[in-house]
Amino acid sequence: FLGNNIMDIKDFNHNISIISGSGAYICGENSAIINSIEHGVGRPRIKPSHEMGLYGKPTIVNNVETFACVPLVINLGGKAFLDMGDASGGGTKLVALSGHIKNRGVFEVPLGIPLQEILYSEEYGGGSSTGRPIHFCHFGGQSGPIGFEEQLHGNYSYGNMLENDLAIGSGAIVVMDYSVDVIEYLKEVLKFFVYESCGRCTPCRIGTTRVLEHLERFLDGSATFDDINTLENLIENMTDLSACGLGQSAGTAVKSCLKHRRQDFEKRIKGLV
Ligand code: SF4
Repeated sequence: FLGNNIMDIKDFNHNISIISGSGAYICGENSAIINSIEHGVGRPRIKPSHEMGLYGKPTIVNNVETFACVPLVINLGGKAFLDMGDASGGGTKLVALSGHIKNRGVFEVPLGIPLQEILYSEEYGGGSSTGRPIHFCHFGGQSGPIGFEEQLHGNYSYGNMLENDLAIGSGAIVVMDYSVDVIEYLKEVLKFFVYESCGRCTPCRIGTTRVLEHLERFLDGSATFDDINTLENLIENMTDLSACGLGQSAGTAVKSCLKHRRQDFEKRIKGLV
């Protein structure tokens, strides 16, 4: 129902305006998109004004996917909606498959479906597109964790993914085969964050650059064992001290690899790669 005086009810109005954000990744952050709409500069707000809505009015900020669930909840009922999933989340999720996967694109899957089914069934991913086995997947966008072969089991639900140190996040799944070195991949992720950091706060502005420099040390053979500790400290500081979600999550992918593929970093130090 859109327009004014809906169903002839006086002043019962509902209108939609579509406004493009400033084009920055950070405009996915709720206060940054509000700033972007109000005056065009997509930078997150510092709390407490962070809590203030668009033009100072009550505002809800959600993505379209969330709003699209509302009619389903109303039509099916809350229980039926939850039944498409598990206790950690119901309904469906739009999954964006890209990289070395046969069927690239956006697929709507019921939450709780086996992750292997998303990756390998013909209905969804269809398996590796190159003939080489899948090496790792990057989940939930650039801010999300990386998962390796042994983690790619269980169900695609909020609870199960967390148990495997993975995340659903935006629903993006970037699939990489064994031709891709994970540290090379991480370098590209950090380049993205260096570019997208809005520069407002030091832990994110400087931290993303320092993490990138350290990854390059592993790649050019100059890294030492101390650099692993420095990387971990840098990521901890970025996560704890950055003002918004971008800086707080820019190190997630590196952190997940340090936990599950520390040996890949150590091999670089020992000159075994
Ligand atoms: Fe900007 Fe990064 Fe600070 Fe967020 S964490 S406000 S993107 S500098």
